[in-house]
Formats: sequence, structure tokens, C-alpha cells
Amino acid sequence: MNSGISSRRALVVRGEELLSALPVGGMLKQSFVDYPGMISAVLYTIGCNMRCSYCHNPGLVLPGLIRVQPRVDASDAARWIVRNRELLDAVVLTGGEPTLHSVLPELCAWLHELGVKVKLDTNGTSPGMLGALLASGAIDAVAMDVKAPLELECYRKVVGARFSSGMLEAVAESIHLLCRASRHVGVEFRSTLSTTLHDREAIAAMQSLVPFPLKLQKVRDEVMLQKELEKIIAARN
Ligand code: SF4
Repeated sequence: MNSGISSRRALVVRGEELLSALPVGGMLKQSFVDYPGMISAVLYTIGCNMRCSYCHNPGLVLPGLIRVQPRVDASDAARWIVRNRELLDAVVLTGGEPTLHSVLPELCAWLHELGVKVKLDTNGTSPGMLGALLASGAIDAVAMDVKAPLELECYRKVVGARFSSGMLEAVAESIHLLCRASRHVGVEFRSTLSTTLHDREAIAAMQSLVPFPLKLQKVRDEVMLQKELEKIIAARN
């Protein structure tokens, strides 16, 4: 076997191993918008510690839907990424909440070994993982959601009642980490706005948390976690 083929095979095997440890519920093979200026593949990880009523990926979040969510085959994904690495600028890790998965640092290192950049989308509740990824140079860009003004009740109104004061502190720490890291990595803070959840004062308070203009997004109401939850409850009764 020539050495090019055997090293490609080794990269695929390593990728399969890493992606087997990451539950992935969807893969977009080519995106021009998820990492601005880059052609990226997008991996949607399963599992999230928030319950935003407007979430448009409930199949990655609600346990009842996660059980029936098809998984992306690790071997197919690894093979596709390795084969197309010359055509890709980057891979975007989104979810769900990717930082809940401990395999992330090794997966990012593998992607860098392939020569592709890595962008992470996060809700900011894992500053330990985020700090480690930033410190090791494992990620090139981060988009973090700012869900509400940094007060427990405001956050709970948007992301659900299980959000704790510890999670609020974690979000504050992640904002701090990213403000410091913005000299070295691409950083975007973004907010999804809903007229029922955010008024003018709330938006101003959210903007005051970060030093760059927030990227504002509208709620996409075709699929929403709240509606899926209502369907699940109705089916039970
Ligand atoms: S929108 Fe909220 S619930 Fe949905 S994946 Fe993001 S943080 Fe989790």
C-alpha cells in the first residue's frame, strides 16, 4: 500500500474513533453561512443543558425526541471529512451543546491535523472546556449565545427553569474568556430575539455585556422546542 493511502486510512480510523464518542444527530456537508467567509461542514451534536422555548433543533435536545433521532454514522462522517479536506476550509461544531462532550479537544486536534479550521457554537455553560480549547489553540472561532440579561430570572425565562445560579456564573465566565481571547480567535456573540421574551431594556442589557455588536437573529418559528414539547405532553394525556 502506498504511504499516502496508508496515512489517509490512519486519519479515517482516528476520525471514526473520535466521532464514535460524539453523538451527532445531523451533518451538513457544505455550508457558506455557518462560518462566515469559509466553506464549512457542520456537525450537530446531540444533547443540551438548556431548554430554550424557541430552539429549532428540539430533536437534539428533548430526551423523548433524542431517542428517535437518527445518528450520523461515525465512519461515513470521518471518511467524508478526510476525503474532502482539501475542499473544506472548516468544520463547525454546533448542537445541541457541543461542549458537553469530553471528546471535543481530541476531535478538534484531529480536524487541525487534517488542515481544516474549527468553529465552535456554544451556549457558554462550560467555561472549563471552553478555556481549555482556547488555551490549547484547538479552535479558531467561537459563536456564543447571549440569551438574556445576566440575571437568573431573565435567563430562566428564556432557557427554562432548570437553569441554575452556577450556570449563570459559567455564562459570565465564558463571556469573560471570549472577550480576552478575541485578540487571537474569531469571536461572535449572538442573540435570538423573541418579542415575547425580550423587550428594549433587555436587549440593551444584553448588549452591555459584550464589547462588540451582538449579532441579532429572529426566532424561526417553523420548528420550535415549545411546540414539540406541547405535542409530547398532548400525546401522553
Ligand atoms: S437553542 Fe437553546 S435548547 Fe436549543 S440547542 Fe441552543 S442552547 Fe440548547
